Amino acid sequence: MNVLLVYAHPEPRSLNGSLKNFTVERLERAGHTVQVSDLYAMNWKATLDADDAPARDLAEPFRPSTDSRHAFEGGTQPADIAAEQEKLRWADAVILQFPLWWFTMPAILKGWVERVYAYGFAYGVGEHSDRRWGSRYGEGTLAGKRAMLIVTTGGWESHYGPRGINGPIDDILFPIQHGVLYYPGFDVLPPFVVYRTSRMDDARFAQTREALGERLDRLWETAPIAFRQQNAGAYEIPALTLRDEIAPGRTGFAAHVDGAGAAS
Ligand SMILES: Cc1cc2nc3c(=O)[nH]c(=O)nc-3n(C[C@H](O)[C@H](O)[C@H](O)COP(=O)(O)OP(=O)(O)OC[C@H]3O[C@@H](n4cnc5c(N)ncnc54)[C@H](O)[C@@H]3O)c2cc1C
Repeated sequence: MNVLLVYAHPEPRSLNGSLKNFTVERLERAGHTVQVSDLYAMNWKATLDADDAPARDLAEPFRPSTDSRHAFEGGTQPADIAAEQEKLRWADAVILQFPLWWFTMPAILKGWVERVYAYGFAYGVGEHSDRRWGSRYGEGTLAGKRAMLIVTTGGWESHYGPRGINGPIDDILFPIQHGVLYYPGFDVLPPFVVYRTSRMDDARFAQTREALGERLDRLWETAPIAFRQQNAGAYEIPALTLRDEIAPGRTGFAAHVDGAGAAS
């Protein structure tokens, strides 16, 4: 299988750097082919701007979505964007690895998403009708591929528990897992989270590697998070709200996971 690891940490000798090297070795030893997009090492351009649409009409204002569509469809995207899209097409599984910074991914990785996920590639795909609202949330360009997050946090596991002050980790990661990954079609596996990184020592690092290794070994068997497909009947179209009979009384992020909580 082909695995793309998109990795965002500025220091190769960091905990994330060690876990990235371990991940690559483990997957390759299992016979998989791995490509790493090491965003800091690549000096990845993090901001989406007019330079990303080099063939646009300079008499017109820059329109990020429309110009993204024209560049994608017209084959005029910058080479770095096209290369990352090609890696995504190549991959059977994609891993995003990053330290949690201000409750989300580092800016360089957010910029990778903004620039690589072009209009016509990751959004604006498929038919809009009274039965379908585009190919997204379970359908789309990246359908059939698996995705997983490897995330490290300074906060303790309890800080991200159901009543923890930071908010539950499933909620914190929802915009990435449901938005960035499920939206363009990925099957999203439960994340691998390393909490309280300041308390890492050799013994705990060995345990962490062991646990991560097991997750990587089961990359193709692990059940994905049961996000509800947009066009499979659970949602009213075009309102895109859950039908009354689906998860009655439940609201918020967890309502979009089939079977989460008592009354699904
Ligand atoms: C801008 C910013 C925003 C942040 N926001 C948040 C936030 O919103 N929520 C939150 O919870 N945290 C937050 N943090 C903390 C951040 O998530 C952690 O600092 C990060 O996850 C640690 O990962 P690292 O790879 O940088 O670890 P490092 O600092 O490199 O290492 C962590 C520990 O692991 C040890 N270690 C490293 N490599 C090894 C190895 N090979 N073997 C054994 N031990 C090793 C190190 O000695 C160190 O003690 C933030 C940090 C920054 C800088």
